[in-house]
Amino acid sequence: MEKSFSFQTHLLHNKWKMDEETGAVSVPIQHASTFHQFDFDTFGKYDYSRCGNPTREALEDTIAELEGGVRGFAFSSGMAAISTAFLLLSKGDHVLITEDVYGGTYRVVTDVLSRFGIEYTFVDMTNLHEVACNIRPNTKVIYLETPSNPLLKITDIRGVVKLAKAHGCLTFLDNTFSTPALQRPLELGVDVVLHSATKFLAGHSDVVAGLAVVRDEQLGKKLYQLQNAFGAVLGVQDAWLVLRGLKTLHVRLHYASQSAMKIAQFLKNHPKVEEVYYPGLSNHQGHAIHRNQADGFGAVLSFRLADEDAVRTFVQHVKIPVFAVSLGAVESILSYPAKMSHAAMPKKEREKRGITDGLLRLSVGLEAAEDLIADFEHALSYVGEKHFA
Ligand SMILES: *Cc1c(COP(=O)(O)O)cnc(C)c1O
Repeated sequence: MEKSFSFQTHLLHNKWKMDEETGAVSVPIQHASTFHQFDFDTFGKYDYSRCGNPTREALEDTIAELEGGVRGFAFSSGMAAISTAFLLLSKGDHVLITEDVYGGTYRVVTDVLSRFGIEYTFVDMTNLHEVACNIRPNTKVIYLETPSNPLLKITDIRGVVKLAKAHGCLTFLDNTFSTPALQRPLELGVDVVLHSATKFLAGHSDVVAGLAVVRDEQLGKKLYQLQNAFGAVLGVQDAWLVLRGLKTLHVRLHYASQSAMKIAQFLKNHPKVEEVYYPGLSNHQGHAIHRNQADGFGAVLSFRLADEDAVRTFVQHVKIPVFAVSLGAVESILSYPAKMSHAAMPKKEREKRGITDGLLRLSVGLEAAEDLIADFEHALSYVGEKHFA
């Protein structure tokens, strides 16, 4: 990234600011699946769009630059990016993975990788002692997610990287919640950054996409081979949508983060809310560590009501947020992890991780914070009241 530019300026003024041939101020969408070779002896840069496509490449280079990496990869979903990165592993290898991991990643590790002889251990990644104790001779990857989903737990990235390097393991980090606008893990020594670009990067609930970035050329070559071999590449229309969303990433995320802080404080002081999980609150367990490794607290928070009945009442009475899976959009999204993102996880595992039936997750959008707070206050007034039919 050009050092003289701040992050938000760079989002707009970069190599793709205009098309060199036409001056077009939007990246052209190149639909071609195949490319004519003009010279029999020397083939051109592109041959077939699974292997390389100029529109996808614009996105791949953009995310690599924003994350401070050497090479980026665009996939057909966040899970495709994560699954392809796991293909760096071989039979007999072991993954150490955060117990607070995204539900889909949990499923890939426990149901799929396990069938290919890849072992795994879930640990509380916020506890460096527990991490150190569970590294084995065959541990090849330590997998982090911070802030984590849905309890916003904070992992000390530098601490885990140090342990990983001492044992010759790679570190993967799912940076979906923060994006490079707030957190750049490669700069802290992480090897592979993964994204569901479906969320904040694209930002408008209209595309499913995944990204991966590495900071080492050799690792980049391996991941490129896997992307090309497995073939779960992102389509060009979708690549363009992510590029379009990225232009407003900074302004969206910073505005929504400010609102998230206001909403977290409101919920924290509300008698019907048992607990609020937001790294921006000074009493949050990982507050200091997060400040030390990121530029902001993000736009996602979770809070706990008494039980499923309380959640049902609240959801039935809120008017602004959509009640849905996903996050990171212009509109606020209220999710119910127990029945949505973590439905794939057995109830026992779920509750062990604190994902109880009273937990709700909120991804704060671009509505006025005051409107959201008034909406929640109104909905909470119905919680706990006895209704006699
Ligand atoms: C949504 C999400 C994923 C999966 O991404 P898809 O684009 O839905 O495949 C992975 N990690 C996190 C943290 C997510 O929120």
